[in-house]
Amino acid sequence: MAASRALAKVVRLGSHSIHRSRILKFNGLQRRGIAACIDPSLGLTDEQKEFQKVAFDFAANEMAPHMAEWDQKEIFPVDAMRKAAQLGFGGIYVNPDVGGSGLSRLDTSIIFEALSTGCVSTTAYISIHNMCAWMIDTFGNNEQREKYCPDLCSMQKLASYCLTEPGSGSDAASLLTSAKLQGDHYILNGSKAFISGGGDTDVYVVMCRTGGKGPKGISCLVVEKETLGLSFGKKEKKIGWNSQPTRAVIFEDCAVPVTNRLGAEGEGFNIAMKGLNGGRINIASCSLGAAHAAVLLARDYLCVRKQFGETLSNSQYLQFKLAEMATKLVASRLMVRQAALSLQEGRPDAVALCSMAKLFVTDECFSICNQALQMHGGYGYLKDYAVQQYLRDIRVHQILEGTNEVMRMIIARSLLAES
Ligand SMILES: Cc1cc2nc3c(=O)[nH]c(=O)nc-3n(C[C@H](O)[C@H](O)[C@H](O)COP(=O)(O)OP(=O)(O)OC[C@H]3O[C@@H](n4cnc5c(N)ncnc54)[C@H](O)[C@@H]3O)c2cc1C
Repeated sequence: MAASRALAKVVRLGSHSIHRSRILKFNGLQRRGIAACIDPSLGLTDEQKEFQKVAFDFAANEMAPHMAEWDQKEIFPVDAMRKAAQLGFGGIYVNPDVGGSGLSRLDTSIIFEALSTGCVSTTAYISIHNMCAWMIDTFGNNEQREKYCPDLCSMQKLASYCLTEPGSGSDAASLLTSAKLQGDHYILNGSKAFISGGGDTDVYVVMCRTGGKGPKGISCLVVEKETLGLSFGKKEKKIGWNSQPTRAVIFEDCAVPVTNRLGAEGEGFNIAMKGLNGGRINIASCSLGAAHAAVLLARDYLCVRKQFGETLSNSQYLQFKLAEMATKLVASRLMVRQAALSLQEGRPDAVALCSMAKLFVTDECFSICNQALQMHGGYGYLKDYAVQQYLRDIRVHQILEGTNEVMRMIIARSLLAES
């Protein structure tokens, strides 16, 4: 019911749509049809195909034409994101009573895959924002949900997820940012590193230490940008993800009302990890979109580029490489969708499956984009050609939301616990 209401909103607002293929017209290459075997709508319900189309159309019309400029000028496209939110993409898996679209994790993955064909970096930020909105919706009380979620779902306010610190990355449970209770406020001191959106966003979902060492001493607070004692580091210079700022977030005697705590004291690490399970599917979905676009760009390039008197598409070596790319793409998509279903159903294998999907898909999709770049020869290395941006933008998906080494730890732990 909630899903159909959200869908109605999505479809109505998406009626401006034109054909999804525009995203593939980079560099004047002639577009050919999307081969049925890699069609991302394969196996979806009619409803899912509808919002997938809306997302592809949005990617083609509102993102792809600007993705190179957003990257090169480091523009955070807030207006475009607010337009995406009008389609229901600001709180895709947030409950409708606070402005969300109430869709499933699988639906969410389908949407992020489609959007990222138009700009991976922007879509990845939207995915982090969605994760924060879901955390407030799920672990907040009604007052907190009503205060924050509507503005987050419309993207009038933007959110950041603050876990990593200069001294705690993979070992996130060792974080040091302290929150000492003083009357009806927590006084925060410490700093967070690499925060996506940091400095440009309004709402910071912060994991901090209210108790002893380890995960059980961590709580989760919502910190508003205007709070005294909150400041930001310089904007980081990155090789990709340039349409979203990354900054350190610094707390110096920053007083945050106790009423801004999500859940009970000591539940913060659990909340952070629950957010990341979905986050990992979302980030893997963003890699899928890039790989999908890269396969099509590579195929179209092979069909027009001539060497040794014939088009490159006649080379059996390159045909085999293209076939391997398409196979990896489809395998990756199946893994993401299986993990999304498992998370949606709350199955005990969900954490391991989300980690497997993140590990496999972000690695394989990077390899697909890298092979696509190789097929473009020297032109693939030029910023005039979109393939290099997909490659640069998805490289970080192997590092953040838990590195792919940490994914191996989680998977192994799950296997060994059940042996
Ligand atoms: C562009 C960008 C955006 C980000 N956005 C956010 C954000 O919005 N919010 C946020 O909280 N964080 C964010 N991060 C931080 C990101 O999650 C961390 O960088 C990541 O978790 C890794 O931590 P680290 O960089 O400290 O690496 P480290 O933990 O120091 O790891 C270094 C290397 O060693 C490996 N390693 C570590 N321990 C082991 C081990 N026991 N066994 C094997 N290998 C190991 C790691 O896998 C990695 O390859 C972002 C990072 C980047 C680059």
